Amino acid sequence: MRITIAHNNNSETLKVVAHLKQALEKKTGYVFDAKYPDVVISVGGDGTLINAFHRYENQISSIRFIGIHTGHLGFYTDWHGAEIEKMVDALFLREPETVKYPLLEVELITEANERKRYLALNESAVKQISHTLEANVYIDDQLFENFRGDGLCVSTPTGSTGYNKSLGGAVIHPQLKALQMAEIASINNRVFRSLSSPIVIAPDQWITIVPKADKFVMTVDGNQINVCNAKKIIYRISNKVIRFDRFGHTHFWSRVQSAFIGDNDAPV
Ligand code: NAP
Repeated sequence: MRITIAHNNNSETLKVVAHLKQALEKKTGYVFDAKYPDVVISVGGDGTLINAFHRYENQISSIRFIGIHTGHLGFYTDWHGAEIEKMVDALFLREPETVKYPLLEVELITEANERKRYLALNESAVKQISHTLEANVYIDDQLFENFRGDGLCVSTPTGSTGYNKSLGGAVIHPQLKALQMAEIASINNRVFRSLSSPIVIAPDQWITIVPKADKFVMTVDGNQINVCNAKKIIYRISNKVIRFDRFGHTHFWSRVQSAFIGDNDAPV
């Protein structure tokens, strides 16, 4: 087994990484390999795991992730730093059983018909920083609406608790292979009209955004791409998935409850 550890540099994380390395030293049958790992152990927050995902996205079909959180329970991080021995034992004792989450494929097509592909774990947004973004939105190549506003955000089910949620989007269980599109500050009056509510499309459907702007910003998991002369952006569910080791996996709605609601003393 080839293992690598991806981590941020905060002091709590570095202590957990040192502890993890000590626990791994007691085991045999693995090597550290940061170039072609089978297992990526991410120590930090969701942001740390997102960075690790992008580092290894070209090898995504042969990699499993394990997330250790060093702050609050994250959406991609199951294990707490205090559970390192248990996590390492489970890693070496069990046959890997994984859970798979859908990813978002982003295809940017330029005026010159060049195609650039990106993969998102959380979401991709199309935005205009100043002035109103005007864009036509197509679902399965049929015109759905003429959008005017700050932008549009298309998210995966696991990304639905990130930026999407702040935009008023629904939280979607990650076993559902569905994409969600949420509006960012749309203009709605008697002249301009878009749906004004988030939509969730079926697994075999796709969304095309045709911005009526020479320049705009596209984000992929928070990373900014300045786009010039784009014809359209096509969003669909990727045929690739991200895999996490199933052991120790926290129930999705428990994560949602823990992240957004907190202690609830009311009797059941
Ligand atoms: P970042 O500083 O790395 O992350 C911003 C916050 O979003 C952090 O607290 C992060 O958790 C949390 N987060 C990331 N993915 C999440 C998910 N799937 N569900 C719930 N919370 C999540 O910001 P960034 O580098 O600009 O962007 C990374 C991601 O953060 C984006 O893909 C976006 O979804 C999210 N984000 C959200 C907002 C917003 O809600 N207004 C703004 C910016 C970014 P950790 O602390 O555990 O890393």
